Amino acid sequence: LVGCSSERTTDTEPAANPDEGGEQATDGDGELIGIAMPTRSLERWNNDGAHLESLLQEAGYSTSLQYADNKVEQQITQLENMINQDAAVLVVASIDGTALAPVLERAAEQDIKVVAYDRLINGTEAVDYYATFDNYLVGQLQGQYIEEQLGLAEGEGPFNLEPFAGSPDDNNAKFFFSGAWDVLLPYVESGQLEVPSGKAPASNDDWQSIGVQGWASATAQSEMDNRLNSFYGDKQVDVVLSPNDSLALGIAQALEAAGYTPGEDWPLLTGQDADEANVKNMLADKQSMTVWKDTRTLGDQVAKMVDEIVTGAEVEVNDTETYDNGNKVVPSYLLPPQVVTKDTVESSLVESGFFTAEQLGL
Ligand code: BGC
Repeated sequence: LVGCSSERTTDTEPAANPDEGGEQATDGDGELIGIAMPTRSLERWNNDGAHLESLLQEAGYSTSLQYADNKVEQQITQLENMINQDAAVLVVASIDGTALAPVLERAAEQDIKVVAYDRLINGTEAVDYYATFDNYLVGQLQGQYIEEQLGLAEGEGPFNLEPFAGSPDDNNAKFFFSGAWDVLLPYVESGQLEVPSGKAPASNDDWQSIGVQGWASATAQSEMDNRLNSFYGDKQVDVVLSPNDSLALGIAQALEAAGYTPGEDWPLLTGQDADEANVKNMLADKQSMTVWKDTRTLGDQVAKMVDEIVTGAEVEVNDTETYDNGNKVVPSYLLPPQVVTKDTVESSLVESGFFTAEQLGL
């Protein structure tokens, strides 16, 4: 476990109190849907919340959209309030996937349905559906990108690798790491990838030893600083496996501080989310790729699920095997993630309207 602070900034936004409110009735008789998001500090969750809220409101639902500043207790209180308001459905992107069982069991007693959003909720029967991107595939795409760029399958190497993993309390982080490590570990074992810091988990199950609590950029930065200072005296780092963009941002800062030059000796650096700052880093050769999860499609899917639940229709899922939460296999809908590199920023992110060219300075 590396560090224990929260994500890269505090939960601030222009509104006076961003983590409260957002409750807006639309057509009066619309059922209430509670939307619990983890934090405003990562761009994607702001987009996720706003998009889902507007879809549900357009469909005639009332919504209560809450952000919990990455604080588990705050998220539990928000869920309690939604239950007291007799929400019909709770859509929950959990902070700690193991901490919500008691509050969600209260929801189940009131026949409130629960959709786990992006992150699985563990250790309870009281989660009805799960909608996410294929998390294992996210990691696999990162691993395969590294494999291809370095020519590992053709026997190239040795290269110096530093691996990182996501927050130990986030169920997704295990899948991201496993997807990547299933590709990369054989090359660590063959000696084509060397890990000078020694922080190379011997198996997928050891991923938490290199997990960055709260997905914090600052923690990733100081961890990378430490590794470069302690283990790279006469060495160059060739590749960094970062599970997402918030970590990649901190890692890039550490590389810059250590004197690496974009476009010259800058290592391969992976990411996930296509956050604006990271896309700009890709354009500036400070990050090699990101795994883009078009959060608009996740919102679309979840809005549809909510509607199916409330109207009693059959809820569409496409995976009933993968996501065992310890108490049940949660019926899931998995969406496809995709790789974006500097060369495809325009054709994927801009043409789809995820960003405008102006936002990215194009
Ligand atoms: C999400 C990622 C995100 C990370 C940090 C994960 O659960 O799937 O998209 O980068 O949390 O917020």
